[in-house]
Amino acid sequence: MAKILCVLYDDPVTGYPKTSIRDNIPEIKHYPDGQALPTPSKIDFTPGQLLGSISGELGLRKFLEDLGHEFIVTSDKDGEDSVFEKELADADVVISQPFWPAYLTAERIAKAKKLKLAITAGIGSDHVDLDAAMQNGITVAEVTYSNSISVSEHVVMMILSLVRNYIPSYQWVVNKGWNIADCVERSYDIEGMNIGTVAAGRIGLAVLRRLKPFDVKLHYTNRHRLPRNIEEELNLTYHPDVDSMVKVCDVVTINAPLYHETENLFDDELISKMKRGAYLINTARGKICDRDAIVRALESGQLAGYAGDVWFPQPAPEDHPWRTMPNHGMTPHISGTSLSAQARYAAGTREILESWFSGKPLRSEYLIVDGGKLAGTGARSYGAGNATGGSEEAVKFKTAKQIIPSSVG
Ligand code: NDP
Repeated sequence: MAKILCVLYDDPVTGYPKTSIRDNIPEIKHYPDGQALPTPSKIDFTPGQLLGSISGELGLRKFLEDLGHEFIVTSDKDGEDSVFEKELADADVVISQPFWPAYLTAERIAKAKKLKLAITAGIGSDHVDLDAAMQNGITVAEVTYSNSISVSEHVVMMILSLVRNYIPSYQWVVNKGWNIADCVERSYDIEGMNIGTVAAGRIGLAVLRRLKPFDVKLHYTNRHRLPRNIEEELNLTYHPDVDSMVKVCDVVTINAPLYHETENLFDDELISKMKRGAYLINTARGKICDRDAIVRALESGQLAGYAGDVWFPQPAPEDHPWRTMPNHGMTPHISGTSLSAQARYAAGTREILESWFSGKPLRSEYLIVDGGKLAGTGARSYGAGNATGGSEEAVKFKTAKQIIPSSVG
């Protein structure tokens, strides 16, 4: 029987919810490109339930224990004395969500002698050292498409929030003010703006589609060019490289995976080629942007705003400069873990486990690494390499004080 080690984020500070806010969530029939939704034989949860925190257990406990497997769930993932590091030694399967990533570095993989499968409950497996996974025969799989639309909605929200200066304006109301000039001195319409995406995969394309009705001019750069009919439908301008795109854009949104080609892509040099006062939205991965270059650009006004939900490491230490830099609209890593998304990636995780334990091949669109090489979606969208360097810094958060917002405290 197998030992499955699952790392999830903590329950709400007010405790695991006793009831859901809404009675149900909309039923989606298939993903926009026709890809089938997850197809587990059964689910043991109610869609819309909080599944991604430790008490939610991705709805997997009954299924795994009925099969006789050992199922360990923890949020304690960083540092040598963490539950994750201790339990990893004889784990067969690791499940982790990118929002609260259990970094699988080469050092940790070397200690995990029995590990055969690393599942990302969500999308983006850069928290796994993919080179080390390939060398050690570990299959890496993720629930492709499960939260792509969730992220695209978040991107549109963040573009509008930044450009229209929503967050400071909201804050004036909370502070009992009526300071219209203070609110609008940084507020514009997006109508007519040039908006470009770095990558037009599942998320990038969904962002473009959602922005079209705003009467903006849409741009993209991607490794492979989109089909002509899509370019025409959305009136897209294609750029063969990121430099030529950022030069003409008022807003840039990053939707590429993190690997050696995209790590640190937005550094001082690239940011200096952007229009003065451009906005940058990054919901892909924190390491795609040079942390300090972003701070410098906001302080100088080269960037008018930066928003996103991805940081490095995660959780971000209390003194991470993105928490306090000017004109930002950061959230913790949440865009891909709405309750709607959780239902899909929990079901997809179960589908992967059902296939694995019954010896059936995993869907190729779920595969990142298999048989010692990049496979499936990994072969199409990623590159080999390791993006986990520096992840041990995440342990700093452990000692930091958890701050409870006054609205829930
Ligand atoms: P897809 O695999 O559908 O799309 C990735 C796209 O990136 C592909 O179109 C690929 O192009 C393109 N790409 C790869 N390398 C480059 C490059 N160097 N320059 C430009 N484009 C490039 O994935 P998704 O759209 O679903 O997700 C994208 C990323 O978003 C994930 O890898 C993850 O890091 C992040 N994400 C974040 C979430 C969150 O909660 N914040 C949740 C889900 C994902 P091609 O196809 O031509 O190779």
